[in-house]
Amino acid sequence: MATSKFFTLKEARLSNNCPECYSNDGLEITFKQKLTENLFCKAITKDIIHELKCFNCNTTIFPIRWTDDIEGVVNYQMRALEPKAKFIKLKPLAWFIIISDIVIVALIILFATGVLSF
Ligand SMILES: [Zn+2]
Repeated sequence: MATSKFFTLKEARLSNNCPECYSNDGLEITFKQKLTENLFCKAITKDIIHELKCFNCNTTIFPIRWTDDIEGVVNYQMRALEPKAKFIKLKPLAWFIIISDIVIVALIILFATGVLSF
C-alpha cells in the first residue's frame, strides 16, 4: 500500500549551453526529494533525484548528454542543497491504533490486577 512521491526541493537555472539546442538560457535543474506514504504514516526519505530540462527546446537532458561544465555546475548545486530532514508523520489511523492498543492493554492490566471487575 506504500506509495512514493517526489516533492521539489530546489530549482535552479543554469547558464550552460543546452547540449541539444545550444541555447544558454533554457537549462533548469530540479532537485526532488522522495516522500513515501502508506496508510499509517508519511515519511520523508533521504533519496534525492535530479532532472535537467531545457525550456528552450523542451527536452529532458539525461546525464549521459551532460557536458563536463553541466556536471560541474550540477555537482556544485547538489552540494549547496539543504535536504529536508528525515521525518515520519503518523496519520490519524496510526494514532487510533496506537491509542486503542494502549487502552486495551490498560484494561487488561486493570482486570488482571483486580482493580476492575464485572
Ligand atoms: Zn535546449
